[in-house]
Amino acid sequence: MDWKRTEHYLESKPTGSVRHQRSYRRNGDGVTNEPILVWFRRDLRLEDNPALAWACKTGRPLVPFYLMERDSGNISGYGMGSASKWWLNASLSALADAMTLRGSQLTLRHGKAIDEVDRLVEETGATTIVWNRRYEPLEIATDAEVALRMKFRGVSVRTFNGSLLVEPWEISSKSGKPYRVFGPFWLNWSGWEMPRPIERGVKWINPSKFPHSDDRANWDLVCHSPYWAREFHDYWTPGESGAREKLRLFCSNAVNQYHLHRDLPGLDSTSRLSPHLHFGEIGPRQIVYSLKSSASCENVETFLRQLAWREFSYHVVNHSPGIVDNELSKGFDQVPWSESQDEVRNWRIGLTGYPLVDAGMRQLWRTGWMHNRVRMVVASFLVKHLMTDWRLGRDWFWDTLVDANNPSNLVGWHWVTGSGHFASPYFRICNPVVQSRRFDPNGHYLRTFLPELENLPSQYIHAPWEAPSGVLRDSKVILGVNYPFPIIDHSFARWRALRVYERYLR
Ligand code: FAD
Repeated sequence: MDWKRTEHYLESKPTGSVRHQRSYRRNGDGVTNEPILVWFRRDLRLEDNPALAWACKTGRPLVPFYLMERDSGNISGYGMGSASKWWLNASLSALADAMTLRGSQLTLRHGKAIDEVDRLVEETGATTIVWNRRYEPLEIATDAEVALRMKFRGVSVRTFNGSLLVEPWEISSKSGKPYRVFGPFWLNWSGWEMPRPIERGVKWINPSKFPHSDDRANWDLVCHSPYWAREFHDYWTPGESGAREKLRLFCSNAVNQYHLHRDLPGLDSTSRLSPHLHFGEIGPRQIVYSLKSSASCENVETFLRQLAWREFSYHVVNHSPGIVDNELSKGFDQVPWSESQDEVRNWRIGLTGYPLVDAGMRQLWRTGWMHNRVRMVVASFLVKHLMTDWRLGRDWFWDTLVDANNPSNLVGWHWVTGSGHFASPYFRICNPVVQSRRFDPNGHYLRTFLPELENLPSQYIHAPWEAPSGVLRDSKVILGVNYPFPIIDHSFARWRALRVYERYLR
């Protein structure tokens, strides 16, 4: 997709005739009083929302809407994951409540974007539509299609940057090409001036009548069997206020040790803003602005580097749509992946016998989130120890993460697997026991998610099979009964992965 051409459609003046009834007057200074459709997508917030701010400033009536797009969610066209549905349900509820407070109404629709937007234009008489841009290939194609249709209908389209600090096409290497590795991207990206949050216009004018809205209860956003999201409410408050509270907590606490502690999963040391960022309940401009006024340069820089990974992921996906299902490194598509269903099942439910892997997978199941360091360990374990196709892991994460985000998930999996040009070298094989001892030395994280090991002394909790039988007995651990033996020997797995990878990747 050529973005410059797409933008040309988006910003061009309307030319077609308007078929709907024009019943709105022009006000004194010649500005029309016709409604503006405000299309909410991955920007489920009222503050720092450039599309909404622009619409408010026009002083025209606003018709905010959210569209559950058919085939939406995944870059390759399959639907939204279950954990994301849980989040979206609660987030839309919060957004609708915030609008009700302003006397407004969030209209909900579902269907094919181009048809539903067309209908809304027809029903409301809107002559302008605004939205904040999206960056995944299918989304770009949808937006370009809608923009083109609007142009022919005589409806003007305005688009804005509501999600990123630097959009994918704004940044390139010295030779004018997209970046393929993170280091040089970061050097360039970190030199950009970080924009301030956008102020929302104070005016919020409502139309005389809102269009018909779907009932969210009919959208099948709740996963019933099993209802594994039951604990999610203990960990998360979806919505703009929940996001702001998370940011406030982070800025007043963990950020001060972020550069030292962010790799330690047993501490609440990272922001946990990822799902809020994914759904756009908070924008990166707001985060950076708050951080700069509350944290030391060292911590701000370390945090910005993580945000840069997020933006690098969008950059990569925007410029290499092939990343979705394809291997990016030559030879990878020849690797004979294992077909063992049992091993994948044990990995998913956290019964591999490697405590750090199991704790991570159970954290994911219980809370819908996993610490970044542990994501790397469990991903590496699946593709290198168990020799399983990375796409199975990507899909499990997609279904179970509340922050499931295509660019970050894809780049994360490619990186760990070694199948991307920007990736970690294929011969880097994480040792889950070494990682556990290094990043969770006291076993605090392991004990939180593996209650059956809680009595094991820290010395043995990272590799229970090494504990003397008396220690196991005293700790009430019976290997093979209430906690498994390792499903694969680390030295063998390492040897096998290197042999296979060397054969196909050399
Ligand atoms: P913090 O440390 O507080 O970082 C702040 C923000 O920076 C995060 O909220 C996130 O938006 C961004 N960020 C941090 N690390 C990364 C990273 N490595 N890549 C991209 N962005 C980053 N992140 C997702 O948001 N969605 C995913 O689906 C996802 N899948 C992943 C899959 C794998 C295999 C791996 C290794 C990583 C994945 N990540 C994903 C990246 C990372 O694990 C999470 O962003 C991070 O753990 C979120 O926690 P936090 O908000 O506390 O992060």
